[in-house]
Amino acid sequence: MSHFLSFSEQVQSLSEQAMTRAKRHFDEIERITEYNQQKVLSAFIENRVSEACFGASTGYGYGDRGRETLDRVVADAFGAEDALIRHSFSCGTHTLGTALFGVLRPGDTMLCVTGRPYDTICPVIGIAGEQGQGSLADFGISYRQIDLTADGKIDIPAVKDALRADSSIKMVYIQRSRGYSLRPSLSVQEIGEVAEAVKSVRDAVVMVDNCYGEFVETEEPVSVGVDLMAGSLIKNPGGGLARCGGYIAGKKEWIEQCAYRMTVPGLGREVGATLGNNRDLFMGFFNAPHVTGEALKTAVFAAALFDAMGFDPTPTPEETRRDIIQAIHLGGEENLIAFCRGIQKGSPVDAFVTPEPWDMPGYPCKVIMAAGAFIMGSSIELSADAPLREPYAVWLQGGLNFHSAKAGILYAAEEVLKVSKDKS
Ligand SMILES: *Cc1c(COP(=O)(O)O)cnc(C)c1O
Repeated sequence: MSHFLSFSEQVQSLSEQAMTRAKRHFDEIERITEYNQQKVLSAFIENRVSEACFGASTGYGYGDRGRETLDRVVADAFGAEDALIRHSFSCGTHTLGTALFGVLRPGDTMLCVTGRPYDTICPVIGIAGEQGQGSLADFGISYRQIDLTADGKIDIPAVKDALRADSSIKMVYIQRSRGYSLRPSLSVQEIGEVAEAVKSVRDAVVMVDNCYGEFVETEEPVSVGVDLMAGSLIKNPGGGLARCGGYIAGKKEWIEQCAYRMTVPGLGREVGATLGNNRDLFMGFFNAPHVTGEALKTAVFAAALFDAMGFDPTPTPEETRRDIIQAIHLGGEENLIAFCRGIQKGSPVDAFVTPEPWDMPGYPCKVIMAAGAFIMGSSIELSADAPLREPYAVWLQGGLNFHSAKAGILYAAEEVLKVSKDKS
């Protein structure tokens, strides 16, 4: 190691041990990265991306060549018929909400088959207790849910029964990533099997919350029978360069509907000035397979290191990855705080600040977060979050490049080891 950052001998030796174990999985990550990188490069070549695509439209943004070309690039790379990728989606939740409102109409039912959705989606559906904000429920759209089975699988027989019994079910909704829960994330193959089962009963719209899943496998949900998927550009598909935004990809007819919701009926995708964001969105999407690979290496290394320190990582270094998230059980509040302190110390931005637990709106307990990122709240950059409650797990994700993120993880290990030394 260099002399620029200093780590104790104990951490250096644990690091070497963890590298030996982690490296066994790097070849597989590289294989997927190369496959996805070629897929993306080929979409750039086929769609004749050129300097003219990076221009900045203003006003209505009619005929923005970059915007239109990028939609084609994203659709082709994801294996979808069509796509919308915009900096003007405020976040992943806004993007997913646009897709839900784009497809669902009064009287329809949305059936979520992966248990309770990600926290911020619940108010969109209207199951978080609030009223009058214009949720799906306020528009007369019903919601039903099927929980995952005890071993974390989608209950396919229950899904088929629900579809047969309730003709109002217009959409079957799947959340691919675990989000901030401890359930396993779903593989693209499993998602494809569910889509097939749905279509065997009738042609309901299958939609996937694809957050954190992009480029982790060689296929995306829309290339295995899913109708619509959406995600955030400050996660995997923004490649760390998109400063904000989201994407929706899938069947042409549904993308059209989403476009009318994204702007207004009549105008749809014909408007939307890009204001100079095209270059970052193109470049970010181009880098996304590689950056996702770096985040995966970071996750595997962190799992191996904290396993060697006696903590319980999920997934383990050996388990196949379905998203970029790594949870680690740290056993108590002090360790969670120490871990986040370490991640912050090893970040390129705001390394000098000390994260503190706070009462985050919508959480029943204090939460601590570490984020020394170039883009506020970006979780494709190395970042960690931990609610200070049972099971005392930290959720770690991102890493624009493995070498830097590895140093962040080593700082986290150093801080956690200090806590146990101070105690003894
Ligand atoms: C990040 C995420 C979202 C969207 O969250 P935003 O913070 O609004 O971008 C939705 N679902 C899952 C599973 C996520 O990880």
